Amino acid sequence: MREIVHIQIGQCGNQIGAKFWEVIGEEHGIDVAGSYCGDCASQLERISVYYNEAHGKKYVPRALLVDLEPGTMDSIRSSKLGALFHPDSFIYGNSGAGNNWAKGHYTEGAELAERVLDAVRSASEACDCLQGFQLVHSLGGGTGSGMGTLLLGRIREDFPDRIVNAFSVLPSPKVSDTVVEPYNAALSLPPLARHADACFCIDNEALYDICLRTLKLAAPSYGDLNHLVSLTMSGVTTSLRFPGQLNADLRKLAVNMVPFPRLHFFTPGFAPLTSRGGRQYRALTVAELTQQVFDARNAMAACDPRRGRYLTVACIFRGRMSTREVDEQMLGVQTRHSGCFVEWIPNNVKVAVCDIPPPGLSMAATFIGNSTAVQELLGRVAERFSAMFRRRAFVHWYTSEGMDVGEFAEAESDIRDLVSEYQQLQDASAGPEDDGELVGEAEMEPEDAPHEPRGAL
Ligand code: GDP
Repeated sequence: MREIVHIQIGQCGNQIGAKFWEVIGEEHGIDVAGSYCGDCASQLERISVYYNEAHGKKYVPRALLVDLEPGTMDSIRSSKLGALFHPDSFIYGNSGAGNNWAKGHYTEGAELAERVLDAVRSASEACDCLQGFQLVHSLGGGTGSGMGTLLLGRIREDFPDRIVNAFSVLPSPKVSDTVVEPYNAALSLPPLARHADACFCIDNEALYDICLRTLKLAAPSYGDLNHLVSLTMSGVTTSLRFPGQLNADLRKLAVNMVPFPRLHFFTPGFAPLTSRGGRQYRALTVAELTQQVFDARNAMAACDPRRGRYLTVACIFRGRMSTREVDEQMLGVQTRHSGCFVEWIPNNVKVAVCDIPPPGLSMAATFIGNSTAVQELLGRVAERFSAMFRRRAFVHWYTSEGMDVGEFAEAESDIRDLVSEYQQLQDASAGPEDDGELVGEAEMEPEDAPHEPRGAL
């Protein structure tokens, strides 16, 4: 079997990680005590990708829960999921990272890192044939971002031939008002570009906008945001967890999606969008699902794919539906919007159908796009970073942890390089006859309204 080791770190990482286990447990028929209570063989066929089988037919998440303070761990342990995890999976300190990337990366986090790496090694040794790792964290704080990227680099060193994916939550001032978030996020991006094989960009700005505009929630909470995150994480891991051919393991996914090693920042999307506890009242058609999943308003990263071009795309449709119809609809999008897909990678859109829908929905679709438009997101981080760094504001908090100012300047130029690498590919065309124009705009939605005023959670 091809196992994945999951590592969730920091407050956000642990909160969305816990939701991930809740949702995939439901999908695979694993109850909160770890017992199987499902009714369909395909739920267990690939169960060992994410779960260890313990004595007494208990399924235990192959997960490490890491933090520099005990609060979030305590609430997971005392939640209904608490008994699901192995007690040794919880690894935490008491110092906190104070939203400081340098504390997570160089001081407090470095102290705890050896313990985590020991646990990573023993989890990997217990695997039959480890395929790789997934790291779940935010980029805006200190632990998930600083210590998360420290672990990422160390795991890459120790397991150079395994795949490492990250689910990274990007900060937004609409959601959090910590001023140093752009620093923490910008310092995390270069290690993510260097050491991760794939990074799913989960952008709090996009999640907040979806809650406000599409789901009409007046004051979205983290619970509302995290509901969207869990739909997305369950969606993008579907092909790893259920039987099927397309992107059946982390390496196949990376090979299909990443034409250039650094350019692996994916924009995920999901349809239909529903709120927590909300229901879908009308069954959607395959055509509607296809149209929605390509819609910028269903994207979990606040960048507009219409302003970029897709290098590669993978779509997973879930539920009972005609595979032929899915193929036809997807082909239709590619024909009508051919200008949105780089023409120098033929067959760059892959589609799969999994007949098990996510809980509570009869049909759903998940989208993974490697779009050059993600440069908007990276540029947004870089801009907010530069505005403060120009005056060296708050830099002393980092240098007093032993960090060199040079690392700030390097991170800034590294992100600008990433942005221009995406831009070059956006401009690249196959031949002189190509005019680079986007066609078939009609079906896509008009420009979004200007951003809503900022609101706190
Ligand atoms: P850490 O514990 O030091 O890693 O810090 P946090 O994970 O709290 O990082 C702060 C960033 O994560 C900010 O951008 C927050 O908006 C975001 N964040 C914190 N908790 C959550 C959560 O549960 N869901 C989401 N979507 N974002 C979160």
